[in-house]
Parts: sequence; C-alpha cells; structure tokens
Amino acid sequence: MVMLEAVANDDQRKRWLEPMQNDEFKSAFAMTEPDVASSDATNISCSIARDGANYILNGRKWYISGTMNPRCEVLFVMGVTNPDAPRYQRQSIIGVPMKAPGVEVVRPMTVFGYPGDQAEIAFTDVKVPAANLLGSEGQGFKIAQTRLAAARLHHSMRLVGLAERALELACARGAHRVVFGAPLSQVGTFRNQIAECRLLIDQARLVTLQAASTADELGTAAAQSHLAISKVAATRMAVAVIDRAVGMHGAKGVSQDTPLARWWARARGLHIADGPEEVHLELLARAELGRLA
Ligand SMILES: Cc1cc2nc3c(=O)[nH]c(=O)nc-3n(C[C@H](O)[C@H](O)[C@H](O)COP(=O)(O)OP(=O)(O)OC[C@H]3O[C@@H](n4cnc5c(N)ncnc54)[C@H](O)[C@@H]3O)c2cc1C
Repeated sequence: MVMLEAVANDDQRKRWLEPMQNDEFKSAFAMTEPDVASSDATNISCSIARDGANYILNGRKWYISGTMNPRCEVLFVMGVTNPDAPRYQRQSIIGVPMKAPGVEVVRPMTVFGYPGDQAEIAFTDVKVPAANLLGSEGQGFKIAQTRLAAARLHHSMRLVGLAERALELACARGAHRVVFGAPLSQVGTFRNQIAECRLLIDQARLVTLQAASTADELGTAAAQSHLAISKVAATRMAVAVIDRAVGMHGAKGVSQDTPLARWWARARGLHIADGPEEVHLELLARAELGRLA
C-alpha cells in the first residue's frame, strides 16, 4: 500500500488502494525469482512485453509473501520491459489479478519446514491491460524502493515484539522450573542470560525508533543507513534472544508445545527477506567510507 500511495494514478487508487485501505482485499509484491540472485534486483528476468493495449507476462516468482492468503487479489509484479535499457531502467512493475488466466500458484513455500503465507507463482502468457503499469516503463527499480523503508521498519518492529514475547516465556519458565534444587530464576547463568536478552532487545528497539523518527522527520532517503542498521540489529537480536529462550526451555523449546521454534524460524527467515543482511552491511560500509571520500 505504501508503494501505491507513492506512485498510483487516480484510476489505480480507485481500483486497488482505496479498497485495500477498506480491507476489501489484499495484495502482494512479487520480485524474487528462483533462477536468479534476486538480492540484486537488476538480475530479475520475468518478461513484461508490450502487446498493443496490453502487456504479456512470462516468468516465475517464489517466496511471495501473502499469496497463500485467499484474500490476496492482486500481485504487483516486477519484470523486464526493456532488456536493452541501462541496468536500472530495464524493470517495470505491473498489477496482475491473481485470477488472471496464466497465473498459477505452483506450490506453497515453507520456512524451515513451517507453512507460511508465501508461494511460488508461474506466469504463462498472462495478459494484463497497459493501464495496470505503475508509473511508466523503466521506473520499476525506483518504484520498488518506495516500499522498502516501511517494509524494513515493520520487520524490525515485529522482531522487537517477538523477542519481548520470547523473553516473557523464558522468565515464566525460570520461575517454575526447578533444577538441582532451585528454580532456574535463582541460577546465576540463567539470570545473566535474561539480563543479556534485555540489553539486546532495548538496543534493537532504540535503533528501530531512531530509524523511524529519522524517516518521519527527514524522509526515507536520509534514513537509509538507520533503516539498514535497524533491520540487521533487530534480526540478529531476535534470533539470539529466541535462541536463548529455546535453550532455557530444554527439549520443550524445540517442540511443538511452545511457539519458540516457529518464532526462531520466522526471525531467521527475516535475515533474508527484503534484502539479506550482507546487502545492508554493504550499504552501511559505503556510507561510512563515503564520509572520507
Ligand atoms: C520469509 C520470506 C519472505 C519473503 N517475501 C518476499 C516477498 O514478499 N516478495 C519477494 O519478491 N521476495 C520475498 N522474499 C525473497 C527475498 O526478498 C529474497 O530471498 C532475498 O532478496 C534474497 O534473494 P535470493 O533468495 O535470490 O538470494 P541471492 O540473491 O541468491 O543471495 C544469496 C545470498 O548471497 C549473499 N549475498 C547477496 N548479496 C550479497 C552482497 N552484496 N554481498 C555479500 N553477500 C551477498 C547473501 O548471504 C544472500 O542471502 C522472501 C523471503 C523470505 C525468506
């Protein structure tokens, strides 16, 4: 929705943005492809070819969040409209109804074996009106950036919340689980780990707040480094905190009797979603070294 708010024309606002703001249906953003390294969006190969008043799509996407939700009605697909254009002007983004002929949900995807809401989707000669193109041809790369700031911030906020819940479960466990004659909560190493978790959570919360307030006050371009820091810090923190909570629960921590194993898988998956950690670190290195240039 953030992307549509930034770039949709009046017709697209009426058809997609306003109904979604009224929760009439959902959408998904489809960039990643199984056959190319998609952390570099210029590798995307799905074809969006102009054909009179329409575009024809051919390609395959996977790990597209939200597509297993039966309420998902439209996909915003990133593909190549002009392979001969300069590298960052080859791509465009177009709205594709999930029910359009030629759109096939090939299979649901799992994250560490857990079912989620991601799917693999194939597009075979899918015809959509040219009026579904966001912005103009060649703007896909630029338009995709408009959703990334909010997406990364939302991931960071959810991860802070997830880690808080994991720490609560760990503390509750420590109060009741008796080891060698004393509750875990009276054992020094356990207490130390609880305190370490609090340190990690609060550090990640603060850098997330910093990223959010910089984006609010100065815009998302100025907040780029802060957003990268918050995404990396929050994912690392959540994986570490949930991992400790798993350990504190013993076998129960890896079982299906607590949500901890699922949360760990979710946090680890977010290391990769919306840009793997290495891409954010590269951005930070460039910003730091750029100060000296
Ligand atoms: C839970 C989940 C939800 C997702 N939801 C969506 C979605 O809704 N829509 C969508 O389009 N995609 C989605 N994705 C896909 C995700 O955005 C991609 O997996 C991600 O961008 C990486 O692309 P890739 O898998 O092709 O990895 P590749 O590009 O093949 O990269 C593989 C690895 O190479 C390393 N690497 C990459 N670049 C660099 C670099 N510059 N320097 C050093 N190392 C590097 C990293 O370790 C990276 O993990 C989701 C993924 C997950 C796990």
